[in-house]
Amino acid sequence: CGIVGIVGHTPVAPLIVDALKRLEYRGYDSAGVATIEQGHLARRRAEGKLVNLERRLGEEPLGGLIGIGHTRWATHGVPNETNAHPHFAEDVAIVHNGIIENFAELREELSNEGFAFASQTDTEVVAHLIARELRAGKAPGDAAFAALKRLRGAFALAIMFRGDEDLIVGARNGPPLAVGHGDGEMYLGSDAIALAPFTNAITYLEDGDWVVVRRSGIEIFDMDGAPVARQRQQSIGTS
Ligand code: GLU
Repeated sequence: CGIVGIVGHTPVAPLIVDALKRLEYRGYDSAGVATIEQGHLARRRAEGKLVNLERRLGEEPLGGLIGIGHTRWATHGVPNETNAHPHFAEDVAIVHNGIIENFAELREELSNEGFAFASQTDTEVVAHLIARELRAGKAPGDAAFAALKRLRGAFALAIMFRGDEDLIVGARNGPPLAVGHGDGEMYLGSDAIALAPFTNAITYLEDGDWVVVRRSGIEIFDMDGAPVARQRQQSIGTS
């Protein structure tokens, strides 16, 4: 339901939780955050309100300078910790808003190839699709693009890759997604309100866009893989 991603230069988990709080108005049933901590994907997730996730993070803090977070409004799979995002598959971590309409056929295809599913969500198929492309030797951005082309439905996605701590890939087909431009940091969010504590410089993605986000800047592409230009705007600050 709500997405936040940060490629930062200080520990991002607390920042992500603060940004998720700005998205609470959308409603949600569970929440989670993942980072790359000492070279590994790590996450904390909790059913219910963000205070539960904060309690988990208090018990077991999460380091890392890059991360993605999510508030979930369950569509496929009951609201519990196992189905809460971020979802992992091998070196891939992902959060997703919306519905992958062809998830059942993709799940069957991947299951037949031996990919094991940990959750009941439609989202998890996207993580495995990307992991399969990485196994085949594609670079992270190319792997995400190849997977995106297989998806039907409505989605906003933020994807992180173990092995590249300077990369979040975002994609939009339906639910909104915006990039926030910081000073040596970059952000992704479901809306400018979530990013208001960090920056007022926003680039809104259009349907069919996907974006490569690095600390040094962003590149936006369409579903043919061609670069596209999107205006950077000043949002009205609410911070
Ligand atoms: N369809 C996904 C799920 O059920 C994402 C739902 C959402 O937009 O939060 O996990």
